[in-house]
Amino acid sequence: PKGNPYMSLRDQMGTIFQDEDFLDLYATEGQPGLSPWRLAWVTIMQFRETLSDRQAAEAVRARIDWKYFLGLDLTDPGFDFSVLSEFRDRLLAGSAEERLLDKLLERSQAHGLIKSRGQQRTDSTHVLAAIRVLNRLELVGETLRAALNELAIVAPEWLQNLAPLEWYERYSKRVEDSRLPREQSKRDAYAQTVGEDGFALLDALEDDNTPKDLQELPTIDALRRIWQRHYERRDPEATSEPGSTEPTVRFKDKRELSKAAEGLESPYDVDARYRKKRDTQWSGYMVHVSETCNPSEPHLLTHVHTTSASVHEAKCTTVIEEALVEKELAPDDHVVDAAYVSADLLVKSKRDYGIELRGPTRPDVSWQVHVEGAYRPDDFHIDWEQQWARCPQGKQSISWTDRVDSHDRPFIQVQFSQSDCTPCENRALCTRIKSYQSRVLKLHPEPQHKAFKAAQSWFESEEGQRQYKRRAGVEGTISQGVRAFGMRRSRYRGLDKTHLQNVAIAAAMNMDRLVAWFDGRPRSPTRTSRFAALMPH
Ligand code: SF4
Repeated sequence: PKGNPYMSLRDQMGTIFQDEDFLDLYATEGQPGLSPWRLAWVTIMQFRETLSDRQAAEAVRARIDWKYFLGLDLTDPGFDFSVLSEFRDRLLAGSAEERLLDKLLERSQAHGLIKSRGQQRTDSTHVLAAIRVLNRLELVGETLRAALNELAIVAPEWLQNLAPLEWYERYSKRVEDSRLPREQSKRDAYAQTVGEDGFALLDALEDDNTPKDLQELPTIDALRRIWQRHYERRDPEATSEPGSTEPTVRFKDKRELSKAAEGLESPYDVDARYRKKRDTQWSGYMVHVSETCNPSEPHLLTHVHTTSASVHEAKCTTVIEEALVEKELAPDDHVVDAAYVSADLLVKSKRDYGIELRGPTRPDVSWQVHVEGAYRPDDFHIDWEQQWARCPQGKQSISWTDRVDSHDRPFIQVQFSQSDCTPCENRALCTRIKSYQSRVLKLHPEPQHKAFKAAQSWFESEEGQRQYKRRAGVEGTISQGVRAFGMRRSRYRGLDKTHLQNVAIAAAMNMDRLVAWFDGRPRSPTRTSRFAALMPH
């Protein structure tokens, strides 16, 4: 039928994928029932229409547009839905998931639909892990249950010899808060018992007669890590009086735990992490989406980067730019929000990748910024060559020292003289340190300092403001990914599989954008609410 996106794309760009793109993932004798290039498309098409594996296999069997796009006869019987999860496993085993997006981009480049350089923008959103959110009691109970279930599969006899009868009663059913006692003392006792059971299992696994590979099981690793975070185990001989009944296992108080970002949230997805960002709290991942935004080309997603939720945006800027360079899709300008920008990153992007990182710099948080007339670092004159600074009162610094902060970042400490600062009549506008101390400036090294200042001026300029407005478009892309393609929630467990999902979604979104471009459909503008549209200009 006319206007069908699959048919339009096939007519304009052919099959795009070739079997050779994926053949290395198959042993010569183990070729799949459906050729790899078709499975790659079915994977993308199922995310385009948010279909399950079963529904996607049914679409291949029954839908004429899918058959046309995949080059199948109308009578083709299709394949069993399990082939799709096998194909995903092969992609992951061969680290080939990026090909779903990259081959489409290569083909688009060959058609002149996307060029390197120009402008690209990046933003991120949260992805919820495919796990039940557990409170601490549920977490420890469920972690031990998961370990016992895995051992029951791989070492049933070993486990049967070890497990006392109470364990069957305690860990046979899913641990749910509604089934746990209400009373605090009973809840404490439950946590204590589970802790002791967990340590008993870990001790047994470390016994010389226990097969060593049992210790390597993923659920045992999760048990070890979760116990380390939530329990303290004391050596009875070191801590107690002889004959003492003081427990040797203690469920730690919430306040004693290491940062939430470091803790496992579930034994079933050990990559998912907790994060709170402004008003949003979630357990799972972050996905960073980059796309082109040149006015004369279709806006295509060029890269997706997936991390655990606890990884900060600033840690992703370099990884994303490196990937764009590798794909030969590095932009001239990379437009991002403040979270992706730092003085170091501004220098690194330009020096290593030839990319101007464009975005607001993080604001100065010192008190001087908020007090009228106070002396901010910008009010000091810096002589980089001679390595001194002059304060607004005309006094020259007495020392200039290279230092490194706790994150291994170099900085310069510039110190003024006590004999100048102590009697200074404007001291209250300059520093709040003790009266016998003098003003100290903390500066970025010169390249970072200058890059930071240049980025600040660009952002405050009219041209900078005009260009930065384009960043907002990527929020629309993320909103489209979340609403129409299921980007908000991972279908799978683990970072790798969640990333594969995000790559397939990006390819599916590009598919729609290419079709819209070929059909001459204009891009939808960034949504403005009815009320916001009434704002007087
Ligand atoms: S306190 Fe020291 S550094 Fe600050 S203005 Fe006075 S003399 Fe200059």
